[in-house]
Amino acid sequence: MKKLFYIDYPQEHVEGQAHTYRCAYCKVITTTINGRLEGHLPTCEYRIKMEQTGYEARGKVQPGVTVADDFD
Ligand SMILES: [Zn+2]
Repeated sequence: MKKLFYIDYPQEHVEGQAHTYRCAYCKVITTTINGRLEGHLPTCEYRIKMEQTGYEARGKVQPGVTVADDFD
């Protein structure tokens, strides 16, 4: 089953910022991740684990994200 939001990753508090949390693995801010697996870095342990359990991060074009394809 495909989940709509991925919010069960380990989070840690960003020091000095009262209401800011980030992924404990890839250190991306939760508001940047925004519940998307693609929001994590490709090297993120959580993302890799989720991908290995069946979910494929689609190469959707997102604002601020460059998808490297057709790179001849
Ligand atoms: Zn992460």
